[in-house]
Amino acid sequence: MVTKVIAISKENRAAVLREAGEIMKAGGLVAFPTETVYGLGGDALNPASAKKIYEAKGRPSDNPLIVHIAAMEALPAIVEEVPETAKRLASLFWPGPLTMILKKAERVPKETTGGLDTVAVRMPVHDVALDFIQAAGGYVAAPSANRSGRPSPTTAAYVAEDMEGRIEMILDGGQATLGLESTIVDLTVEPPMLLRPGFVTEEMLSVALGEVAVDETLLCGDSGQAPKAPGMKYRHYAPKGELVIVRGSEAAVTAAINERLLAGRAENKKTGVIATDETVERYEADVHFGMGEKGSAKAAAERLYRILRECDDEGVELILSEYFDDEGVGAAVMNRLRKAAGYHIIDV
Ligand code: AMP
Ligand code: MG
Repeated sequence: MVTKVIAISKENRAAVLREAGEIMKAGGLVAFPTETVYGLGGDALNPASAKKIYEAKGRPSDNPLIVHIAAMEALPAIVEEVPETAKRLASLFWPGPLTMILKKAERVPKETTGGLDTVAVRMPVHDVALDFIQAAGGYVAAPSANRSGRPSPTTAAYVAEDMEGRIEMILDGGQATLGLESTIVDLTVEPPMLLRPGFVTEEMLSVALGEVAVDETLLCGDSGQAPKAPGMKYRHYAPKGELVIVRGSEAAVTAAINERLLAGRAENKKTGVIATDETVERYEADVHFGMGEKGSAKAAAERLYRILRECDDEGVELILSEYFDDEGVGAAVMNRLRKAAGYHIIDV
């Protein structure tokens, strides 16, 4: 299959979206930009499309997909009911980087929900995404447009790296501005449970909903419990090299990271370091990755997946990372970074 990669412009936009919509209605796959990361879209109501998504990603089919909608009016048709909590969250955070888990309606195929009776729904805020969803019939099932196990793609070029020859079309809408996947909250349980941290933070959800529980498996990989969001059990985001996070006072972290980098170098390993812009040049690494200014979780979120991909592109074998601010949006950044490191954190 030849994958068409098309940069959306003012001139071609209407025609390209029409073509993308036709591909989707015929059961094909189109990758599209959203504000979080690029999505790999198929018709959410067509079981054959869901199967194709799993094949293209190389993803286990018990890992459910998120159904993307473009208007609130589209929601009642795919869920058993729209609870008050969902209405409240939608009015506050949709369109935006929030996914809600609700009881699914009959017409949503189990192929889309990984066999579950619940469905994950999100309304993205990106204008190309919204027009594309409309053109595709209103219900687009989409996981992130990466091959399973690789970091989610934040540019169309990264999508092409993973999906060239596997899908019909890639819509290039520039860089994903947020850079991390949506927050996921389960509204089928009482109290509602945060399953994946993101730009809509735990604090923001608590203000809207009152008590919010947090899936314990988010914090460490070896709690022995199965995560409530099925996809969270799979190895994710990990670079090919070994990644270790070091936490402690600034001086202790600098010393500990440099010690390990030098040891790696002595073993002839290519080394990398991930640190704030202010501190990154202190380290004795072959490759330096700046995550933005200290305390700027937004900058870190935008850069993280590009950095993890660049670690592979550069062939880095040992990567040391500072521990970044984990408040607010920082919780989402550290959730992904901890997973990428296989939960290998050293306290100094
Ligand atoms: P993504 O990682 O962006 O591909 O989004 C898909 C993720 O959403 C899955 O891996 C699950 O973790 C989560 N998810 C989707 N549907 C459900 C559901 N019905 N219940 C719980 N988690 C879900
Ligand atoms: Mg993903």
